[in-house]
Amino acid sequence: MNTQNIIGYALIPPTGKSFRAMSPASDTELAGDFHVATTTDADAAMQLADKAFAVYRHTDAKTKAAFLRSIAEGITALGDELLNRCAAESGLPIPRLTGERGRTTGQLNMYANLLEEGSWVDAVIDTAIPDRTPLPRVDIRKMLVPVGPAVVFGASNFPMAFSVAGGDTVSALAAGCPVVVKAHPAHPGASALVAEVIMQAAQKHGLPDGVFSHLFDDGYAVGEALVKHPKTKIVTFTGSLKGGMALVKMARERDEPIPVFAEMGSTNPVILLPQALENRAEELAKTYSESVTMSAGQFCTNPGLLLAVKSEGLDRFKTALGAGIANVASATMLTAGICSNYQKLSKERLGNEAVNIVGKADKLNTENQNQALAVVSEISAADFLADDKFKEEVFGPYSMLIVADDMAQLEEVVGYLHGQLTATIMAEREELALYKPIIDKLSNLAGRVILNGPPTGVEVGNAMQHGGPFPATSDSRFTSVGTGAIKRFVRPVAWQNWDNDLLPDALKDENPLGIWRLFNNEWSRK
Ligand code: NAP
Repeated sequence: MNTQNIIGYALIPPTGKSFRAMSPASDTELAGDFHVATTTDADAAMQLADKAFAVYRHTDAKTKAAFLRSIAEGITALGDELLNRCAAESGLPIPRLTGERGRTTGQLNMYANLLEEGSWVDAVIDTAIPDRTPLPRVDIRKMLVPVGPAVVFGASNFPMAFSVAGGDTVSALAAGCPVVVKAHPAHPGASALVAEVIMQAAQKHGLPDGVFSHLFDDGYAVGEALVKHPKTKIVTFTGSLKGGMALVKMARERDEPIPVFAEMGSTNPVILLPQALENRAEELAKTYSESVTMSAGQFCTNPGLLLAVKSEGLDRFKTALGAGIANVASATMLTAGICSNYQKLSKERLGNEAVNIVGKADKLNTENQNQALAVVSEISAADFLADDKFKEEVFGPYSMLIVADDMAQLEEVVGYLHGQLTATIMAEREELALYKPIIDKLSNLAGRVILNGPPTGVEVGNAMQHGGPFPATSDSRFTSVGTGAIKRFVRPVAWQNWDNDLLPDALKDENPLGIWRLFNNEWSRK
């Protein structure tokens, strides 16, 4: 395993400082001294990325698609070495990581298909009308082009799918933006293995030196230098509100402000409507005991808030949920820091006299460290509304049931919540019409509105929206999952009055790429 920083096609000789990954399950160091990059390395990576951009922005779709497919093949070929290292560094179980690897290679191949099909560039053509009165119309043609070098911060909770070759990197590379990854210090070994695969794939396809770089740091200096670097045009991040907002502020204060697409906290409210509770309280409890505890609750779509009105159905739901949660074994959290944060916040919540326990897991695995026991707590809507801190995310297997006296109070709670990645309604079909204003308010909060299903389990596809109003993300107009994620890395450019042979292929009269275009107001592939 390479433990050096990668700048383009060069492995950077160690300069002194290094760090090791920790196994969260045993609280011991894992093998491998990962060399901390310097701000000089950050500068070299960005300068090279900028040079690479001049070439890579014109690299044809077929070559970029082949590059992405080679990365997917390389990741698969790493086999158990990658899975075992991910498991050791993250504490996540192998079956979960096997699924995540499939998602990672799947999204690389999905982007390769998108590039080969080609219509994603949104070509719009209005040809000249020289005899239009009172003024002639000029020939004007628009399409999306890449913005320039991107900085990607690897996320801790998806060591493959949101890390070095994750959704951010793949959508940036597909758009034509070189990428500099700041590896997450919680899984440097998994990051190093994947980074080498990307470097080799870039070499194999003859891509410009600097199309990809990979830097380690166990502190903030490198990340800050990358965000502030004048050659950086865009930043993506998944993690805490504090970290995300620090990067947003940094990027805004540059001489040239740049966008930071930060995915931060979300409590993913779930409304349990009365009829659904009456008819299927036990089934709903099963769905939610699984959803809250999956991967130790370390999903950005974890259902952190459940909302319902007092009823006999709700009492049955609570009993069944309490029993379900009690049965769940403790699980290792991603890092000691994330675990201690979970312990602190959940203890604070449970120590509050307004908060009661609906169910608490009690099967503690004493062989492993950094264990999280799942909890579902309960609070009255009046107490919830009285203290802002209850709105904040507790990252981990924690959920809070908010019990309202009536639907009017439940609606008040919905109106008080901040922006979310997801919002869910568990309902019988006929009661949806009765509560339209609540449902309307709820959908206004979130990027994805779910009917009768858990928010966990994010489909990677064309229609997915994974992004919502602040603080869920820093820009709710975009998604970080699915093919729509490419839109973060592009900007529209219009060409006016250009001769046909001088235009990009996507905009030429004869449509050599055969893509869908809006041609004089009509969608056409001709
Ligand atoms: P984090 O603390 O936000 O860090 C994420 C990445 O950003 C790390 O590489 C970190 O570097 C870097 N970073 C953070 N603050 C920075 C700053 N001011 N300047 C430069 N770089 C900065 O997230 P985490 O370590 O993954 O987990 C901590 C908490 O984040 C969790 O307890 C949870 O609350 C939240 N989280 C949320 C999600 C989500 O999906 N919404 C996902 C994961 C985590 P260093 O690690 O070197 O500090």
